[in-house]
Amino acid sequence: MRALVIGGGIAGLSVASALAERGHAVTLLEAEPALGTHSSARNAQIWLPVDDDATTGPLARRSAARMTALLGEEAAWLRRTGALALVRGETEAAAMARGAARGGVEARPIPMAEARARCPALGPLEDEALEVIGAGVLDPHAMLEALARRARAGGATLRTGARVQEVCLHPRREARLSGGERVAFDALVIAAGAWAGALGAGLGLDAHLVPLRRHLAVLEASPAEAGTIVWRFGDESVYWRPESGGVLVSPCDEVALAPCLPAPADDVAERLVAALRPAAPRWIDAPLRTAWACLRTYAHDRELVLGPDPRLDGVAWVAGLGGRGMTVGVAAGELCARALAGEPLDDESAALLARARPDRAQPSGLCEP
Ligand SMILES: Cc1cc2nc3c(=O)[nH]c(=O)nc-3n(C[C@H](O)[C@H](O)[C@H](O)COP(=O)(O)OP(=O)(O)OC[C@H]3O[C@@H](n4cnc5c(N)ncnc54)[C@H](O)[C@@H]3O)c2cc1C
Repeated sequence: MRALVIGGGIAGLSVASALAERGHAVTLLEAEPALGTHSSARNAQIWLPVDDDATTGPLARRSAARMTALLGEEAAWLRRTGALALVRGETEAAAMARGAARGGVEARPIPMAEARARCPALGPLEDEALEVIGAGVLDPHAMLEALARRARAGGATLRTGARVQEVCLHPRREARLSGGERVAFDALVIAAGAWAGALGAGLGLDAHLVPLRRHLAVLEASPAEAGTIVWRFGDESVYWRPESGGVLVSPCDEVALAPCLPAPADDVAERLVAALRPAAPRWIDAPLRTAWACLRTYAHDRELVLGPDPRLDGVAWVAGLGGRGMTVGVAAGELCARALAGEPLDDESAALLARARPDRAQPSGLCEP
C-alpha cells in the first residue's frame, strides 16, 4: 500500500512509523521546513494521564510502552517527577483516581497542608489535593526524533517544506503540493493538527474540528516554590511546573482561531494574573521571561478523531488530539496504522476506534472542557 501521511507532528510521525514498520510504502509531507514545529514542539511537556474518559488511559499506557521500546529506556523520553492535582470536591477526586489507574499512574488524596509543603507557592485554596505518582515531564524532541528514525528505518520518506494544497480522489488519488508537484497514494492519513479539519473538508468530510489557542509563559519565579507539576482543574484552571530556573505557567485559556501559528495575545499578562491570583498569588507580580501560544484542536465532543473514515475508502485520521496529544498520540497513530492495514484488532483497540470514529454524530457546538 502507498500511504500518504499529511503532517509531521506527533500524530503524523506516529502513524508513519507504524505503517513503515508494517512494510507499507510511506510518504509523509510536512509543510514547514522542519518536522514537529507546531503543537508538538510548543506544548507544556506534561505527562498526566488522569482524565476519567474511555480513551486517555489505554492510549497513554500504550504510548508509554511504545516510546520506551523505541528508545530502549523510559528515562530517554520521560522524567517521572510526580505531580499535584487540585480538584473541587470528592466526586472529582474519585473520578481522577479512576482515570489515573487506567492511565498507569496513581492519584492519591493528600491533605492540603502536605500539598503546600511540596508547593510553597500554593494559595489558600479549599480544593481536594491529589499526589499523582508516575506523572512527569516528557521530552518532545526525543519522542519526535525516535519516531522519525523508526519511520526512515522502515523505508518511509519524510519530506519537509512540502505543503499539500489539495487532495484529489478522481480521476486518480493524489495530493497536489503548493509548488504544483503531485504525489500519488492508495491510502491517505490526515494528521495535520489544526489544519486537519480543512483538509478533510476538501474531501467533503466534516470531523467538527475546532483549533483553540492556549498560552504558555515562563515566569522569573522560583522553581523551588513551584515544587513540582501542579495542575488545578475546574472553572479556574491553571497549571505550572519548574522550567529552566523559572516557572512554566499556563492560564488554561481557550480561544477558537483559524489554523495558524498564533502570536501571543496582548492581554497574556492579564490572563496569567487572573489565573494565578487564587492559586499562586505570590507570582502575580513575577516578571514574564517569555510567552507563546499554540493551538489545541478538538472535535466538538472533545474525543479524538481516529482511524479509517467509513465515509471514504482509504482515508483515515489521527486528529483532534486536543491537549493530550503528547500523551496519547503515539498509540493513536499506531492504532490508526493497524486499522488501515486491516490487522485483526483486540477488543480494547476496537472499542477505542469505535469511540473515536471520524463519522460519529457530534454535538452542534464544542463541549465544555
Ligand atoms: C499550549 C499547549 C500545551 C500543551 N500541553 C500538552 C501537554 O502538556 N501534554 C500533552 O500530552 N499534550 C499537550 N498539548 C497537546 C499536544 O501538543 C497536541 O495534541 C499535539 O502536539 C498535536 O499533534 P499533531 O501532530 O496532531 O499536530 P501538530 O504538532 O500541530 O502537527 C501538525 C503538522 O501538520 C502540518 N500540516 C498542516 N497542514 C499541512 C499541509 N496542508 N501540508 C503538509 N503539512 C501540513 C503542520 O505544519 C504541523 O507540523 C499541548 C498543546 C498546546 C497547544
